[in-house]
Amino acid sequence: ALSIGIVGLPNVGKSTLFTALTKKGGLAANYPFATIDPNVGIVDVPDARLQQLADIVHPGRIVPATVEFVDIAGLVKGAAAEGAGLGNQFLANIRECDAICEVVRYFKDPDVMREVNHTGDFVDPASDAETIMTELILADIQTLEKQLPKLEKEAKRDKTLVPKLEIAKRLVDWLNEGNRAAALGMTDEERAAAKGLFLLTMKPMLYVANVDEDELTSEFEPIDGVTPIPICAKVEAELSELEPEEAAEYLADLGLEHSGLETLAQAAYRLLGLQSFFTAGEMEVKAWTVRQGATAPQAAGVIHTDFERGFIKAETIAFDDYVELGGEQGAKAAGRLRMEGKDYVMHDGDVVHFRFNV
Ligand code: GDP
Repeated sequence: ALSIGIVGLPNVGKSTLFTALTKKGGLAANYPFATIDPNVGIVDVPDARLQQLADIVHPGRIVPATVEFVDIAGLVKGAAAEGAGLGNQFLANIRECDAICEVVRYFKDPDVMREVNHTGDFVDPASDAETIMTELILADIQTLEKQLPKLEKEAKRDKTLVPKLEIAKRLVDWLNEGNRAAALGMTDEERAAAKGLFLLTMKPMLYVANVDEDELTSEFEPIDGVTPIPICAKVEAELSELEPEEAAEYLADLGLEHSGLETLAQAAYRLLGLQSFFTAGEMEVKAWTVRQGATAPQAAGVIHTDFERGFIKAETIAFDDYVELGGEQGAKAAGRLRMEGKDYVMHDGDVVHFRFNV
């Protein structure tokens, strides 16, 4: 599953948000999530197309795509700067994530202390984001400095490691100038080599603006070129305690359709260039996640590795055709069911049935 690490300064609302994320409550119908680990919360990616398919197929269940949020405790100001180093567990957790989501304080409550950058203002998003970015950059410099001597030695024996060494050197300088790794101009090969260096600032970054309730529908200035997603952690915590109908009513009162966590899951999906394809049968209608540009065998592999290995064909119907023609039979009769081979590049919303050898 797609996983996102949550970071942020102390007292910005991370725990509040995370508690909402991992609480089971009675909300399974329209606010479903499960807990597999105290540090991991799973959120559905809302997709109205699932219901459209279900209206045709009448399946036993609907299974949406999910995003996994990981609570990355331990990123505090000065941890990297003071040379104490970041905990190994922390680094391992954050490295496994596909993206990083920073919670930034926008709520004004004077009762909640700002522990860092205290300028007298209760809200200073740009400065907070810069503080965290500096910590991430410092962590990356440490990571590189640890790897470089070994890499220098190994690259003398193994010439295939030279590109990795070269990009690592360029990155150290770049990071030392205060830049994030992802912002360095790199060729595709350099980017591939840089991937193996496990840098935090190579990962896509999302921002959550933890706002007051009355600002949930406001728009905010971009941070580092990315528009923050407004969420009210307090509201999320309250939503997680409600029954589905009550939760829906509460959201409607706030002028919202989805919970903040669902909106965040959706935004992460877009940011990471992901798309869905569907399988639709009597048992279930299910959304599966692939990268944009994924081929049919790669998509099959998301369902099962055997499907990819033994891939023969993908019986494919475009989502619009499927809905307009009333499902598989109608699409087939209208000549809209396509037999796609191994070079087919998946389209968002394809309804697929894979044929494979075992
Ligand atoms: P963390 O240190 O980032 O995990 O922050 P917490 O989740 O522990 O929140 C710190 C304090 O801010 C707690 O007293 C929360 O109740 C409060 N808080 C969190 N989110 C909000 C919010 O959206 N609005 C207000 N007014 N207070 C909040």
